[in-house]
Amino acid sequence: MTSTARPFLNRRLAEFGTTIFAEMSALAVATGSINLGQGFPDTDGPEEVREAAVRALRDGRGNQYPPGPGVPELRTAVAAHQLRRYGLAYDPDTEVLVTAGATEAIAASLLALLEPGDEVVALEPYYDSYAASIAMAGGRRVPVTLRPDGGRFRLDLDELRAAVTDRTRLLLLNTPHNPTGTVLTRAELAAVAALAVERDLLVVTDEVYEHLVFDEAEHLPLATFPGMRERTVTIGSAGKTFSFTGWKVGWVTAAPGLVTAVRSAKQFLTYVASGPFQYAVAEALTLPDSYFEGFREGMRVRRDILAEGLTGAGFEVFRPAGTYFITTDIRPLGEKDGLAFCRALPERAGVVAVPNAVFYDDREAGSPFVRFAFCKREEVLREAAERLRRL
Ligand SMILES: *Cc1c(COP(=O)(O)O)cnc(C)c1O
Repeated sequence: MTSTARPFLNRRLAEFGTTIFAEMSALAVATGSINLGQGFPDTDGPEEVREAAVRALRDGRGNQYPPGPGVPELRTAVAAHQLRRYGLAYDPDTEVLVTAGATEAIAASLLALLEPGDEVVALEPYYDSYAASIAMAGGRRVPVTLRPDGGRFRLDLDELRAAVTDRTRLLLLNTPHNPTGTVLTRAELAAVAALAVERDLLVVTDEVYEHLVFDEAEHLPLATFPGMRERTVTIGSAGKTFSFTGWKVGWVTAAPGLVTAVRSAKQFLTYVASGPFQYAVAEALTLPDSYFEGFREGMRVRRDILAEGLTGAGFEVFRPAGTYFITTDIRPLGEKDGLAFCRALPERAGVVAVPNAVFYDDREAGSPFVRFAFCKREEVLREAAERLRRL
């Protein structure tokens, strides 16, 4: 069957042809460039966690369909993690749901909670799956733009309030924030919470970088704020926290009614996923604090290597308080079009980065910003810094 009359991809998804990562990763391969585009570590996570997965496979745990909500060991470990770190008590049986990564948790939450036409207020620039998932759910995205202010990208609370209308069903939040590296402060989160309560909104909060906060920054789950526990769907993932992004083990914690709703959508997406890896992640979540501290400190060192390299190469650097990423402004290099800059960068310097503009509805607002990932080995980052000095 052919169709010359119209393209195959439907109208809901027409704007999401292929992701920028496919284009940039292909460029990296074609030019032999260092790929600081996509955010995946170039070394695997802890050996004991990898061994736990091997053991599960060998022992025949998770090789057949695991239970729909996730294996009990992992649900218990997720609940214990939320309690130990944040004082948030969730019942592993009714308030925890294991998903195929955070990506499925986001999609299932939106598919479950939105009516067609409902508005979703999301921070811009946004993680690329948000826009597509809102579209698949028939929702309307309403971006609130984070703007550079005093060396960080800041949420304007007045803009956030103004974005909420009678059609707003939920806020889609992300802290620590990809791609800007912003970690929302206690005061900002308190204001978001007060707004959600006042306007009776649900909140889906993507906290996959909860363990990657640097310096004085602190990750505060939105669900810990007054009035939020019953209206917040919190999303976590093993991919970023344990450096196993290919395992696709994520989770949702929320009140029973919300978890039941999200599970209803999730069961018809993947039903279940990552059986043996669920057991391994259950063990990973019980690693001592020293693991999490070492992981964070190692990533902070890499952030600093790349930040210094980028500054030396002439970029304006927004030193991130969290995540895997540094957002830069290319205007000090005499450039203003991030997309053109990123397309040329592999030829010019042998490095691949991602233009933040693709994470904006307001492309103009995002145009001069370019994102570099620092979740790579130190020698790779040093080599990238060396190459960028050619600019
Ligand atoms: C990587 C990432 C995800 C996806 O996580 P998976 O567990 O790999 O699906 C979701 N949100 C943000 C902000 C991310 O950076």
